[in-house]
Amino acid sequence: MAIHFLQSKAARTLSLAHVFRMTEAEAEASFAKIRWSETDGAPVCPNCGGLEAYECRRPSGALRFRCKACRKDFSLTSGTLFASHKAPLRVYLAAIAVFMNEVKGKNALALSRDLGMSHKACWVMLHKVREAMAEEFRGRKLGGDGKIAETDGAYFGGYVKPANFATDRRDRRRLANQSGKRQSVIIVRERNGRSIPAVFGSESAALSWIKSRLLPGTVVNADEAGGWNDLASKFEMKRINHQEAYSADGACTNQAESYFSRLRRGEMGHFHHVSGPYLLRYAQESAFREDARRVDNGAQVRRVTQLALTRGPSIDFSGYYQRHIQAA
Ligand SMILES: [Zn+2]
Repeated sequence: MAIHFLQSKAARTLSLAHVFRMTEAEAEASFAKIRWSETDGAPVCPNCGGLEAYECRRPSGALRFRCKACRKDFSLTSGTLFASHKAPLRVYLAAIAVFMNEVKGKNALALSRDLGMSHKACWVMLHKVREAMAEEFRGRKLGGDGKIAETDGAYFGGYVKPANFATDRRDRRRLANQSGKRQSVIIVRERNGRSIPAVFGSESAALSWIKSRLLPGTVVNADEAGGWNDLASKFEMKRINHQEAYSADGACTNQAESYFSRLRRGEMGHFHHVSGPYLLRYAQESAFREDARRVDNGAQVRRVTQLALTRGPSIDFSGYYQRHIQAA
C-alpha cells in the first residue's frame, strides 16, 4: 500500500532529538549558514556590508563579530526579526522545529512547557515566527493565462457566549447581537499551487484586493454568493452552488475549503477565540502550513528561519509591546 507523504521518511528530515543533541556552536553555525547563505555562512556586516569580520566573543560567551571595515560589532541576529534574542539559538531552532511539526498550529502555553520557558517569552517568539511566515506572502501574485484560482471567505473571531438560561439567549446570527469583532478571512489559492490570505471586515471589502493579487487570464472559481459577482468584471468565472454539489463541471472551491478547515482547527484547538489584529497572523500561519504540507519538516524550519533572518526587526513586537500589524 502506498503510504502518505507525511508517513514517509522523506517528510522527517529534522527531529527535535537532533536539535537538542546540537551544541550551541553547531546551532550558531546553522543560523550563520541560513542567514549568510551567499557566503556559505561567513559573516557579512549588516552595517556596511563588509565581508571581513572576525569573531569576538563576549566574556559571557555570547557570539559577536567585529567588522574590519566599520569596526562595528554585530551578532548572528543583529538587524533581523530575532534581534536582541535572550534565549540560546539552539532554543530558537527547537522552538521553530516544534512549531513546524504541529501541522494545525502550536500554542504558546504548550511550547512554554516543552521548553521550560515563560509563557510570555514563548508567545512573543511564536508571534515573531508568524511574522516571518507573513513575509512569504508579501507582494505575491497568483494565476495567469490558463491558470485556475479559487477564492472564498469565512468569518472568524467575535465569539459571543450564549447566556446560561435558554430564556435569556438571543439569536447570535443577528447583527445586533454580535460583538462587532467578527472579521472575514479571505483566501485566494491557485489550484494545486500557492495561497494568499487576508483579513477584511467583509467579503465585499476584499474584492479589489483579490483583483490586485490575481494575474490577468486567471479563471476564478467561487461559490454562488452574490458578493463575488463583481469579480466577473475582470476574470472568467466558474461558480459552484454548494447546495447542489461540492464540485461540478470542473468548478469547485475545495482547496479554499481545505485552507479554512486547517484555520478552523487551529482556532478551535490552539488559538481559541482569536480576533483583532492577530487574526491576520494566524491566517498567514495556516496558509503557510497549507502550502508547505508536502515539504519535509527540515526544509520548513530552514525556510521559516531564513525568512526571520533576512528581514528587519519585528514590527509587531518591539520591546515586547505590540505595535502595528501590517498586512503582507
Ligand atoms: Zn561594517
